Amino acid sequence: MATAKKKAASKKATSKSDRKASHEFQAEVTKLLHLMVHSVYSEREVFLRELISNAADACDKLRYQSLQSPDLLQGDSELRITIALDKKKKLLSISDTGIGMNYDELVENLGTIARSGTQAFIEKASAGETDLQLIGQFGIGFYSAFMVASTVTVMSRPAGSDEAWTWISDGTGSFTIEACQDKHAPARGTIIQLKLRDDADEFLEESRIEHIVKTYSDHIAHPIYLFGDQDVMNQLNSASALWTRPKSGITEDQYKEFFGHVSGVYSDPALTLHYKAEGRNEYTVLLFVPSDPPFDLFDPERRGRQKLYVRRVFITGDAELLPPYLRFIRGIIDSEDMPLNVSREMLQDNPTVHQIRKAVTNRVLTELKKCAENQTEAFEKIWQAFGPVIKEGLYEDMERRDQLFEIVRFRTTRSQAETVSLKDYVTNLADNQTAIYYLTGDDAAKAAQSPQLEGFEARGLDVLLLTDPVDSFWVRTALGYEGKPFKSITQGAADLDDIPVKEDDKTADIDDTAVATLIAAIKQSLGDKVKDVRLSSRLTGSPVCLVADEAGLDRTIEKLLAKQGATGVSVSAPILEVNAGHSLITALASLAKSSGASADIDDAAQLLLDQAHILEGETVTDPAAFADRLNKLLTKAFV
Ligand code: ADP
Repeated sequence: MATAKKKAASKKATSKSDRKASHEFQAEVTKLLHLMVHSVYSEREVFLRELISNAADACDKLRYQSLQSPDLLQGDSELRITIALDKKKKLLSISDTGIGMNYDELVENLGTIARSGTQAFIEKASAGETDLQLIGQFGIGFYSAFMVASTVTVMSRPAGSDEAWTWISDGTGSFTIEACQDKHAPARGTIIQLKLRDDADEFLEESRIEHIVKTYSDHIAHPIYLFGDQDVMNQLNSASALWTRPKSGITEDQYKEFFGHVSGVYSDPALTLHYKAEGRNEYTVLLFVPSDPPFDLFDPERRGRQKLYVRRVFITGDAELLPPYLRFIRGIIDSEDMPLNVSREMLQDNPTVHQIRKAVTNRVLTELKKCAENQTEAFEKIWQAFGPVIKEGLYEDMERRDQLFEIVRFRTTRSQAETVSLKDYVTNLADNQTAIYYLTGDDAAKAAQSPQLEGFEARGLDVLLLTDPVDSFWVRTALGYEGKPFKSITQGAADLDDIPVKEDDKTADIDDTAVATLIAAIKQSLGDKVKDVRLSSRLTGSPVCLVADEAGLDRTIEKLLAKQGATGVSVSAPILEVNAGHSLITALASLAKSSGASADIDDAAQLLLDQAHILEGETVTDPAAFADRLNKLLTKAFV
């Protein structure tokens, strides 16, 4: 589970004999513990779920290792979790017969925080900068014991080891570890003993514990026993893996609880996918699409976190059972036919894993498509949360690009509140429209104000608003959808002449010679600041706009790539398009026709170019010259 464990910032004991060594918690842990102890959590009971979850993981790990080394189970082959209550001493303990921890593991696992994203989150939470409710998703696990305990004692003996260790802390900055002399030391595995705080007496009641275990941990596949006052052992859970039970017998709450177990997020999943595949490969799938994005959705590691089981034995959480663009999907896949002794390292090249990955990916996409088509509202939420990630598939998974095109949704100039599918877009093409038009930008509302859109709006053409960074990557290589190419409306010729303008937007008669003279004058004035100056069919309300050459990149994409330092990409000079129907251009055109190039036309040309850059959210190259020219014109108008 831990990917980047940091060593605790403490001196490691030189001798691990029976000397007692004190260690400092990593700074983030101290902060976290402070939050745990001092914040009022309404659902403190979740500490038990977290400790049981750790105990179950420890049992899973031992079961996996014992496949190679059966000796590890010697003496006691049952993998179980036991909760014991001692009312007099106010002690609650959770023990497991799992893998156990050695000295170094105690220092590292119970002294540091594993994932770097989590550390950053804790920092923010400590500074009061973020919603504490979100903390649930970090599997803060072990440390949550300090919500109810004044002292936590951990006694642990790794499977197969003759050494056991005792870890003790009161949660204020440090912990100690010493050789375990206790006559109650575990024969194998771990005992976590909590000295309950005075305000946590409720957790000494058997009925309360039973209720908590049934609520949160019923799905745990190892037996959970309660050892209460009467010295009677009572099994609290059914101890059968949830996914092996028939669907009809599983309640929404049980699914939700299991989703919580695999994702750390205890809310309703947006979509649950539970099925058994039969045929070439036999396996069971129980996957969930969460309702909200996790804090590390864009973590550079970007790996799937689905768990692989083989015949109920947990193998790994790292098998990449789904491609990275479906990494937000959580859950398990349990194979019936893979060998139990499959090593984690071999999974990359395992043909069964390949086949399962392929089939499950297709199935997930099919389910997403169904959801998109039949449960529009639910899918809209999924799309809000994970759309930018799913779109990564459009360039990472060429094989399934067409399948993904059926799932992706877009805001458009006409539909800014609700998204539309490509199918809907293509069904509603205007007469003579041959392309799927798109506009790139950082922000949908801002992009929708672009002057380049005017001619498209005047013709009743809808335009996709592509505002996620990932859009720049797929749209450049996508060939099209249903034979219609994707076309940037800020690039190349607009080709709009064949599409009639709606009646009331028709432009007045144009003096072609005058406009041609003006264009020549502007070109001369702007020199290499522009690649070309030409007449526009995409403008109706604005005098000018910038576009990119047909052969190059869309301007937003080019700017993005140049900013990221992509090799061979620099921002090239744009093409300035002028709107011959605009009264300013008409006036300038007749001026150019009567008196040719002049200082006034030169100023106007420079100002029009600067203005077009500003509308693109860019800065003008020479602000002083811009202000001078503007003032000159304003003076003419007002003085
Ligand atoms: P997480 O479970 O999310 O990794 P925790 O803080 O709950 O975070 O636990 C940290 C680590 O401590 C676990 O990943 C595991 O390696 C180890 N650990 C916790 N409890 C046990 C246990 N009962 N047996 C063995 N290892 C444990």
